Amino acid sequence: NAKQNTKRFAVYNKEMEKGSPRHITMMGELRHAIDTSELMVYYQPKVNLGQARVSSVEALVRWQHPEHGFLSPDEFIPMAERTGLIRPLTIWVLNTALKQGEQWYKKGLKIGVAVNLSPAALLDTELPNVIVGMLSLYEIPARYIALEVTEGSMIKDPDLALKILNRLAELGIKISIDDFGTGYSSLAYLKKLPAKELKIDKSFVIDMLESESDAVIVKSIIDLGHNLSMKVVAEGVENKETAMKLKALGCDILQGFYFSKALDHEALIHWLGKNGD
Ligand code: C2E
Ligand code: CA
Ligand code: CA
Ligand code: CA
Repeated sequence: NAKQNTKRFAVYNKEMEKGSPRHITMMGELRHAIDTSELMVYYQPKVNLGQARVSSVEALVRWQHPEHGFLSPDEFIPMAERTGLIRPLTIWVLNTALKQGEQWYKKGLKIGVAVNLSPAALLDTELPNVIVGMLSLYEIPARYIALEVTEGSMIKDPDLALKILNRLAELGIKISIDDFGTGYSSLAYLKKLPAKELKIDKSFVIDMLESESDAVIVKSIIDLGHNLSMKVVAEGVENKETAMKLKALGCDILQGFYFSKALDHEALIHWLGKNGD
């Protein structure tokens, strides 16, 4: 895991312990990036097989760093999570994505937008109020908004997570369980969550054609989700054969490089135009 981290933090790899000079510099830069226009939100299509169309997109943050160039979220989200910065960052992403969603909605595009919530961002008692504020600010119905949460939130503080998720679901927001199968999955909490969507982690999807055990896991998660009345999403769909196999297994929604990587909003509109929406 240490090795993996070194690879991931190619830019910020030295002395990244909390409180170290590099860490403090990076946190200052990220704080600055949130306040300026260095952060961007890209959108990856989620293809709904039942409706044969893109019914929503996932908002994925990027950082155009003045010196280090284009940084992927894996290079700064984990650090933001270990400090308080994940909250202002999440609020910035939510605002940006909802403002964008409002524009699509006004154009009649009927595209939902999903935002990722780290455990520290979800486990914030102020979050539902912040979202209520945004819902009154932007003209986009709550049903067009989804929040992708991971099992990590349930492990950290199950009672608080459940309370906040129930409040968000009452507002009409769709709750989606992300990266399913990678955490310490407990089936006990799964049925308690007000979630309408289950996302199979891409690590199972990417090799499912070659790996029989991955294929079995994917099929089991699809059946589990359906038995709990949830829509099931497969992420990491990189080729046509995988898409066909997932469709045959009854998966509801597909997401991956086979369809499109995450795009800025202009490129997304262009892509949607070319792909029949
Ligand atoms: P995630 O939520 O699991 O998002 C899916 C990631 O898989 C994205 O990486 C996406 O670009 C990538 N991906 C999509 N299709 C494929 C594919 O076919 N093959 C492969 N190999 N990868 C694919 P990205 O954008 O680099 O984001 C990485 C992670 O960073 C996300 O994983 C999410 O956990 C986190 N993240 C991104 N944006 C935000 C955000 O605004 N807030 C929070 N809290 N986390 C975020
Ligand atoms: Ca996600
Ligand atoms: Ca995921
Ligand atoms: Ca992930």
